[in-house]
Formats: sequence, structure tokens, C-alpha cells
Amino acid sequence: MGRELVAIEAPEPYLAVTWQVNNFCNFKCSYCNPGNWGGANPNNGNLDIYLNNLREIINKYKAAGYKQFKFFFSGGEPTAWRNFIPICEFLREETDCTIAVNTNLSRPKAWWEKYYHLFDDIVASFHVEFANKERYTENSIFLCDKVNYLSSKMLMHEERFWEIVEFAEGLKQVMPNYFIEWTPLYDELSHVTGPWQYKDPAKTEFFNTHNIEIHQSVDKPNKRADTVSYSRYDDGTITFCNANEIIVNGDNFFTNWLCNVGDCIFINPTGDVSLASCGMGGTVGHILEDISNVGPKQITCYKDMCMCGTDIIIPKIKKSLELS
Ligand code: SF4
Ligand code: SF4
Repeated sequence: MGRELVAIEAPEPYLAVTWQVNNFCNFKCSYCNPGNWGGANPNNGNLDIYLNNLREIINKYKAAGYKQFKFFFSGGEPTAWRNFIPICEFLREETDCTIAVNTNLSRPKAWWEKYYHLFDDIVASFHVEFANKERYTENSIFLCDKVNYLSSKMLMHEERFWEIVEFAEGLKQVMPNYFIEWTPLYDELSHVTGPWQYKDPAKTEFFNTHNIEIHQSVDKPNKRADTVSYSRYDDGTITFCNANEIIVNGDNFFTNWLCNVGDCIFINPTGDVSLASCGMGGTVGHILEDISNVGPKQITCYKDMCMCGTDIIIPKIKKSLELS
């Protein structure tokens, strides 16, 4: 039996805000839930209310001793949201924060040249059905030494699996720094529980030998990154916590663990604010209305499986360990 995961930890408390800004996307991937791209909740406008409520939340956590903040924007496609850049600029001025974005990297290079300075981490999901390979490659080469972390996240479409493998192998040839994540299709994109079952055993086998590939040959900004989580194992080893790796290793089962759900605010496309996205922390307000109940909180997890990458990296500890 291999080592056992016993805790996910943060060097110092930080608030992670995971914000699914709307449900509009310029792609319509076949494996994606239409609720993620249809655009019924564009959420344009109300910028002043967003900024005032964000300021109030930030001040509350600061008063509770949280010094660092991490904002992770997803969608839909967040770079297509009208409020996106003004909010990122506000957060840069207001907090000591890191800003991460999950994007399909479809904006042209000129857009990234103008705004890359706002971002620390970019998860660049590659969706083979809609991506412009040339643009994705050009942006990847540009960004790979401009931000702390650029993940080229390959979404492994079943029918075009080997085409994606070939494309990513090409990226490795032209990107001086790369972080390739081979990502099985998973329920964070649809609402189906459990990992995608690939019909071809060779594709399933691929994930046994391919998870993450990293290479760095030129410097990155090396900005301070206190807003990270680490995985602690029963043999004493501590590693950077990568949610994808935890899922692939089947370590995302935290029933009965103590979980700091208040360390992760999740804002959904309709504006509801919950503590974590799993439902265990409950809905505590609305980003355009009442945010008075948003704050730090620890609970016992009763879920069978921790499904979402942002939930997985919330600090948590195995209860027996905490009590021993
Ligand atoms: S998977 Fe991502 S890029 Fe594709 S349609 Fe859904 S939100 Fe858009
Ligand atoms: S499912 Fe929810 S409560 Fe359980 S570990 Fe994940 S985030 Fe925490």
C-alpha cells in the first residue's frame, strides 16, 4: 500500500475566492454542460456593487487575520466578461493577492500583452473542438515566462485523443517553459459524477503513465506565492498540492475530515455565494445583495467524494490525526 494523504495545508491562512463569473462561453464543447456556455446570466453591469461588496468581504477576512487572498476566475469564459478587467484592477489595488484565471486562451495575443500583468496563474484549457491551435500556441509561448504558473491543460476528448497528444507534444517543442496537464474529462465540466470512462483501454492506460509534465528553461517572475496549499502524507512527505494529481491518484475522499470551508468562497453564475462549491458549507449570501454571513468557518465533511479542484485544495485534515 502506498503512502496515505492525511492533510492539505496552507503555510498561512488565505482566502480563496472561486468565482464562476457567468455562464457565457465563446466555445460550445460537446463534453461541457450547456449551463456553462449558454449565457443566460451574462452579469454585465453593477460594477460599483461588485466592488463595494468585494471590499466588505476582504475587510472582514483581514480583520480575522487573513493576509493573503487568491481569486480564481472561471466561467463560462471569464476573459469575455465585461466586468472582468475592472474587477481584477480593483483587486490588485485593494489587496495583497494572487489572481488566477481559467481560460480557453481564445483572446488574441494583443489582449494578453495588455493585461498579462494582472495575472499570477493562468490555467489555459485546450479544447480541441474549438481552439485555434496557432493562437493557443502563440499565446502559450508569450505567457510561459510572464506569469508564475501557466498550465496547458489538455482536455482529453475521446475521439480526438491522439490529436491532442500530438498537439501537446508540439507545444513541448516550442515552449521554453511548460506545465502540461493531461486531464481526463471530468465532472467539473459536466454534472456527471465520476471520471469519464474511456472506451479504448489504451486511452485509460495513457493516464497511468501521463499526468503532469514540467519543464523550465527561462526565468519566470517568481512573485511571492503564499496562496498555495500543500499535501501532507503519513510518511512525512509534503508536496505541492495539485488537485489533478490528487484526483488521478484517487485521493479525493475526505469523509469525516475537518475542512475549512470558510477559506473558500464560491460565487456561482447567478451570484449566490457559498462556502466551498460542494454544498457542505451552504449558501451564505449573494454577491450583489447580502454578504453579511460570508466569513471563516470549519466543518466536518460528510461528502463521499470531493469533486472540484478548488474544493480539493481547501485546507483540511483527517479527523483521527487532528484528535491524536
Ligand atoms: S469546456 Fe470550457 S471552453 Fe468548452 S464550452 Fe465549456 S466553458 Fe467553454
Ligand atoms: S467535499 Fe466539501 S466539505 Fe468535503 S472536503 Fe471537499 S470541500 Fe471540504
